[in-house]
Amino acid sequence: MEAGHNSKPKLLIIDDEKQIRELLVDLLGGVYDCSDAGSAEEALTALSKQTFDLVISDIDMGGMSGLELVPRVHTLSPDTVVVMLSGNQDLEFAIRALRAGAFDYITKPIDLRHVEASVERALQHSQLLKEKRRYKEQIEELLQQRTAQVDRLAYYDTVTQLPNRALFEDRLTQAVAVAKASGQLLGVLFISLDQFKKVNDSLGHGPGDSLLREFAERLKSCISRTDTVARFGSDEFALLRMGIGGTTDVIETIGSLFQVLRFSFDLPGHELYATASVGVSLFPFDGEDSQTLLKNAGAALYRAKKSGGANYQFFTADMHELAAGRLALETNLRRAIQNEEFLIHYQPRVSVDSLAITGVEALVRWQHPQFGLVSPSEFIPLAEDTGLIVPIGEWVLRKACEQNRRWQEQGFAPIRIAVNISARQFHDQDLSQTVIRILHESGLAPHYLDLELTESSIMQNVEFAAEVLTRWKNMGINISIDDFGTGFSSLASLKRLPIDALKIDQSFVRDATTDQDDAAIVMAITTLAHNLRLKVVAEGVETEEQLRFLRLLRCDEIQGFLFSKPLPADMLVSLFDSVPKDTRVS
Ligand code: C2E
Ligand code: MG
Ligand code: MG
Repeated sequence: MEAGHNSKPKLLIIDDEKQIRELLVDLLGGVYDCSDAGSAEEALTALSKQTFDLVISDIDMGGMSGLELVPRVHTLSPDTVVVMLSGNQDLEFAIRALRAGAFDYITKPIDLRHVEASVERALQHSQLLKEKRRYKEQIEELLQQRTAQVDRLAYYDTVTQLPNRALFEDRLTQAVAVAKASGQLLGVLFISLDQFKKVNDSLGHGPGDSLLREFAERLKSCISRTDTVARFGSDEFALLRMGIGGTTDVIETIGSLFQVLRFSFDLPGHELYATASVGVSLFPFDGEDSQTLLKNAGAALYRAKKSGGANYQFFTADMHELAAGRLALETNLRRAIQNEEFLIHYQPRVSVDSLAITGVEALVRWQHPQFGLVSPSEFIPLAEDTGLIVPIGEWVLRKACEQNRRWQEQGFAPIRIAVNISARQFHDQDLSQTVIRILHESGLAPHYLDLELTESSIMQNVEFAAEVLTRWKNMGINISIDDFGTGFSSLASLKRLPIDALKIDQSFVRDATTDQDDAAIVMAITTLAHNLRLKVVAEGVETEEQLRFLRLLRCDEIQGFLFSKPLPADMLVSLFDSVPKDTRVS
């Protein structure tokens, strides 16, 4: 198409005078590949058949003039250079020719040297035009590639090369439209790699990314070609299963996912096992558009994660409210810590024989700006899940120790203050240090502090519990097991631990006077505890009858509404004994 470096440049010479055409062909034919035409019309036919590098055209011809021809040449072939021949010496014609798009003009009578020089310049210009075009094409190609790359970035995850959320939503929307028309079922699986944040934080982003990539590969191996796997970010992936027969198909997919996770991940410098949680929503049952399906799969995933991970949940209608409600409560709870919206009520623990107060238990309440006083059973489980229990628990411990010390300073007979420690707090590495610091700062002697643990937090790791409890015991802190009888601990395992008291759960105490089985349980616990030299405290004692029964069983202490409900600190002091000034703790 164009004159390569080896082939001769192509010239088209147009003039209605045959003589001039022949003269020029004679002159230029040795160096260039010359054709000729006797009119503009004839030239256009030739130009439509092949491309010329240079057109030399007369201006004044019968029919179409040379000036009219120039723009038409350029339309047919933009890189072709036109040089005009003009019999008129007038400068005005030359200017008109250049305005029409000609590169140069040659006057008649023809000066041969002038012609050769002009043709050479025109061909150089033609070459330049071609290079410019090539350059422009290259840039355009580059731009196109770049746009494609940007598109890729917009639709694919850079770490795993999987489609991202935007592309997944796109495909889901299409799939829903198709499924609606064809009556198919779709499965949307929201998948989260359990504990990923921990891996990322402790091993760094390199191994974290390798884990994500390997996980993505394994996910892909669990699906068919028509399905889509995407990464939504962080540890979240999504899977779209098309044309499924029902829940069994989805469960099979999840089964193969759990199967491929049975093998360890070989990360640079580390080998680890990973588990995943899955939330599932189904079209059309759980939503008729992509947004609803994703939202509901997300709610199901939330439930799967909350029940410990490494499992799956199908969406059910109540999940939604649950997730939304908890989210609102969680936000409020974070704010409550900042605003110190908590307060403590204290409930006395008294000796069964003398009804003297031996201690008080600190029970936290949340003074919510709108809901009023919120009971701990409503927010402690959430605080546990979110880890917010750690700062809340520390606050309670500090306030309780300070309060007890204040009572002593005010001249009341010294008593123990019991503080509840939940499982999450107990397994917090810093707890022991926090306890030591708070005791030190509040000036409370350790033997006036009683920490209440549940069986389950001890049973999670008995070795660890033994170590921590021994440390506390050596400091002089008292240890009680709360809600005893509701967990799965054996008294045999408790035997190895330095415990002071068992608090029998109120569910047994409540019916001990009416239910034979509960009575037997309370009796058995008391006898066994005494054999292990542990004190027995009955919780939730509400009636005189219960008290009589517990006294009969030789239970040591009671706590319950019968003696006092949990009360604010200032209301409690009326129940306290004062001690003579000289024996006060200072
Ligand atoms: P818990 O440690 O077993 O506390 C005893 C619960 O029984 C308290 O409920 C108390 O108000 C209630 N109670 C006491 N006597 C009676 C009675 O005669 N009849 C009945 N029906 N109930 C009685 P509360 O204050 O609602 O606390 C519930 C649970 O919340 C506590 O059970 C404890 O496990 C937890 N909790 C409270 N404060 C804290 C805290 O500061 N930290 C932690 N980690 N948990 C706390
Ligand atoms: Mg308690
Ligand atoms: Mg209890």
